[in-house]
Amino acid sequence: MLVCSRKCGGTLFRAVFAEVDVDSAGEYQDHRVTQPGYICLNCGAPALDLAQVPGELEAEAQAEEAAASVTADILCPVCETMVQLDANMECPNCGSPLEVPRLP
Ligand SMILES: [Zn+2]
Ligand SMILES: [Zn+2]
Repeated sequence: MLVCSRKCGGTLFRAVFAEVDVDSAGEYQDHRVTQPGYICLNCGAPALDLAQVPGELEAEAQAEEAAASVTADILCPVCETMVQLDANMECPNCGSPLEVPRLP
């Protein structure tokens, strides 16, 4: 799933970091890409691996989700009970509405 970053329409790409296995006659046997990195053979621009992008976005979204669900300990202003919150809710002790302090 490689595309040219200049969208030149090229369909051939070269892996920049690849190892090629050859036999004793120097004939190509196998290869592996050691690091993601490709260039478009048509125009020489870096190529983007579309298969990689959604995975990265998903990982980012999961990280954001994890950060958003971090619980906060706040002190109830009425009964001074320490309450653990992950969303706006009421104090379990006295029923006062509590608000999670928002970070700027
Ligand atoms: Zn290109
Ligand atoms: Zn309370």
